[in-house]
Amino acid sequence: MDRKDCVFCRIADRDIPSPLLYEDEEIVAFNDLHPQAPVHILIIPRKHLPSLAEMEEADAALLGKMAFVAKQLAEEKGISESGYRLICNCRADAGQEVPHIHVHLLGGENLGPLLAK
Ligand code: AMP
Repeated sequence: MDRKDCVFCRIADRDIPSPLLYEDEEIVAFNDLHPQAPVHILIIPRKHLPSLAEMEEADAALLGKMAFVAKQLAEEKGISESGYRLICNCRADAGQEVPHIHVHLLGGENLGPLLAK
């Protein structure tokens, strides 16, 4: 896929302006456009992977690093003690809307039951 056709690639490439809360050579994080909790951050790899289903073993460290970035952002946002949730929707039945793998970091309030989004 051309990076120009992917909204999250374009944010990572700074084609679409969105303040980056974290960035390094592999990973970018930014606020969700339609937040569903007081803290709602998306953590993505710069590499275009459509979903978890396309992940290969070589990508395992990248996904681990995304979780670590989420942990650091949770600390920065002051929600580490109260708690938070990471969600990674995969394909249609999970309601994945954007076909570029991403982890939602949600927190800042009681999030309710596990499957509530
Ligand atoms: P998912 O359903 O897991 O694919 O979630 C996609 C998320 O991306 C949704 O929560 C959207 O609100 C969010 N989103 C879509 N476009 C943008 C954008 N341009 N900037 C930030 N978040 C976005």
